[in-house]
Amino acid sequence: MKYNLYYEIKISFGAKLSKNKNGRIFNLHINNYMIKVVTIILSLLIVGLAVFIVPKFIQVSNTATSETQQKSQTSAETQNPDSLSMQNITQANSPHPQTILFPPISDAINRVTKKPFGIQVSPENSPVSPERFSGYHTGVDFETNPDEQQIDVPIYAVCTGHLIMKKIASGYGGVAVQQCNLDNQTVTIIYGHLRFTSIMAKIGKTILAGDSFAVLGKGFSSETDGERKHLHLGIHKGSDIILLGYVQKQSDLSAWLDALKYLSQ
Ligand SMILES: [Zn+2]
Repeated sequence: MKYNLYYEIKISFGAKLSKNKNGRIFNLHINNYMIKVVTIILSLLIVGLAVFIVPKFIQVSNTATSETQQKSQTSAETQNPDSLSMQNITQANSPHPQTILFPPISDAINRVTKKPFGIQVSPENSPVSPERFSGYHTGVDFETNPDEQQIDVPIYAVCTGHLIMKKIASGYGGVAVQQCNLDNQTVTIIYGHLRFTSIMAKIGKTILAGDSFAVLGKGFSSETDGERKHLHLGIHKGSDIILLGYVQKQSDLSAWLDALKYLSQ
């Protein structure tokens, strides 16, 4: 069979691939439109490089910088223990571990007057009345003063990490959960009895240690699920979100950490 027809194949964007009458020579005709398309593709490649490679480069140099900071911090530790706390917090860019926590509320340590970590309570013996819970307290409760009942009491992130949950939950009212790295392990931080509508950060957003990210819910209202105005701060080991405020077996407390141990005295 003899092919002596002249034909051309139109390919995308107006470029033409043609074959001559002998059926042997191919010519690629590129028009202006094709040049524009190639220019756009090249531009996209350059933008892609900028978006994906440059941040990686910056990340590498940041890691190097924070390693240097960590080294200088180690020497600061031996010289001046007081200066350690703020340095440790400021270098706590997740996933870099931190070994101490930023205070979640002003004058934090002095507010732990009723329910420290691990205390066993029941409606009969509880330091708060009325009490509807019983078991071993998985968190630390930070109390408020009478003059703070009608004002907004800011709550600060104790570490740097993503907000992984915020909801209205039974027993808490508003609750926020943040994932951090504390003492070289992943932990989830539970902030209970917050005013839910004050938690502006979206799920997945990083909250920095020391950021004021919410306020306490109004006491004895739905904002605290009927509880007095206070912060319940729980630290659960691992990345699972466990909102339990109490466990029924003392041995189950081993899945939790005492926040007070990580707040500078
Ligand atoms: Zn509590």
